[in-house]
Amino acid sequence: MKYRTILLFGAPGSGKGTQGKILGAVPNLFHFACGDAFRNLRIDDPLGRVFIEYSSKGMLVPNEATIGLWQKNIKASTVDGEFNPEVDTLVLDGIPRNPQQALMLQDFLDVRAVFNLHCSDSNKMVERLQRRALRENRLDDANLEVIRKRLETYENETKQVLDFYGPKLVYTIDATQPPVKVLREVLEILAKVI
Ligand code: ADP
Repeated sequence: MKYRTILLFGAPGSGKGTQGKILGAVPNLFHFACGDAFRNLRIDDPLGRVFIEYSSKGMLVPNEATIGLWQKNIKASTVDGEFNPEVDTLVLDGIPRNPQQALMLQDFLDVRAVFNLHCSDSNKMVERLQRRALRENRLDDANLEVIRKRLETYENETKQVLDFYGPKLVYTIDATQPPVKVLREVLEILAKVI
């Protein structure tokens, strides 16, 4: 059985997490943020160390480990009863992040829509990330060099995921709008596809 899924997609600072948290509060939507799953690993977990090693350089964590973490978390949430695949829709935020991950997830996901939160102004995203660094105490948001590298990783590796799913599934939304307006657009589409 495949999980009915929507993807939140966009560069760092485009607002995936903001939208994901709100959507996760809606009944029958289950939000999974890959970056949060990495940050929630215990300090003595070997994968936690791998995560710090890569994320502190603005790089993606290797695919096998990332997909493994995803599987483990989804299984645990299903067992806990937090996520019920029979009735819930999975809201994936920050995964898949390259075409290889999309391929590895293909057999598990029934993707209904990809919300591409598009921001043409990279300065605006850098600004958002720097504000978040203070608020959420995130090291990868604090350093301008790392931010630049993450935006570069997005351009060179992550963006190709849009081609993997193709124009029929991709809905591009202007991410420079205020969060409520982005949310309204997401909900209008979501209501039609799930
Ligand atoms: P942002 O979208 O702002 O970069 P995230 O919290 O989604 O923030 O990701 C933070 C870091 O976690 C990434 O830079 C990367 O190192 C790692 N990461 C998150 N999701 C993935 C993924 N699907 N594959 C590989 N690495 C990931």
